[in-house]
Amino acid sequence: MTGAEVPLEGNRSEADTAVSLCSGKNDVEPMTLCAPAIPGESLISQVSRYHVTSGNVTTRDTYDELFQRAPFRLTFWVPPHIASLSVWLKGELVETTHRLLRESTLFPLFKMFNGARFAPSASRESVDEALRRQPKRIVAESGWTRICPLCVIKDSEKYGTAVIRSAHQIPGVSHCHSHGTPLQDWCQKCRCPFERKNDLVLTPWLGCAVCEARLVGDPSQTEAVPDDSRAIGFARFAARLLE
Ligand SMILES: [Zn+2]
Ligand SMILES: [Zn+2]
Repeated sequence: MTGAEVPLEGNRSEADTAVSLCSGKNDVEPMTLCAPAIPGESLISQVSRYHVTSGNVTTRDTYDELFQRAPFRLTFWVPPHIASLSVWLKGELVETTHRLLRESTLFPLFKMFNGARFAPSASRESVDEALRRQPKRIVAESGWTRICPLCVIKDSEKYGTAVIRSAHQIPGVSHCHSHGTPLQDWCQKCRCPFERKNDLVLTPWLGCAVCEARLVGDPSQTEAVPDDSRAIGFARFAARLLE
């Protein structure tokens, strides 16, 4: 591996300032890069939200700041390289990385159904290797980050920010477990996917990367249509597994 794995000790004071409000304050609140801590928020959401509030000019700047490497895909079921965040979250390497896996990725599902394990030694090399061995994504699931437009509205009201939720990214989930609405994975105006190759997903906060259309919820979508009942039932079942 490269020198990119060197811990971010040099930026420790900046990190302390940047995340002073962001780390979990107790055992109940999830650990997060950005205040407020939001249960069920995915890692791509936390990093994208961090970018939007950081003042960084490019997403490359944010990747370099947080991961000390060029942009890579953070939307894998279990993304690689996230051990770098332990410095920002001010926690012990293995436990902090494990908490990120449990709270911000689909790792709990793969642990439950695929026997995925995360049991590295305390060295950074061992943690990175354990992350590399985690499930990524099947081809058909690749490149599609799903968002519920009604959750964007509700989360903005409740938390003051949109959120990309882990439960919406579970394989096979097509509807929101909270609202029963079909999830969206591309811009309704220009049909450009929300997800861009090896980059953050900024549509919920900044609008479409191509046409700048905002992700706007349609209140008429709150009523689920009968044909969707099985899909909604599966979405609710799957979401409960992550809780
Ligand atoms: Zn929703
Ligand atoms: Zn668009």
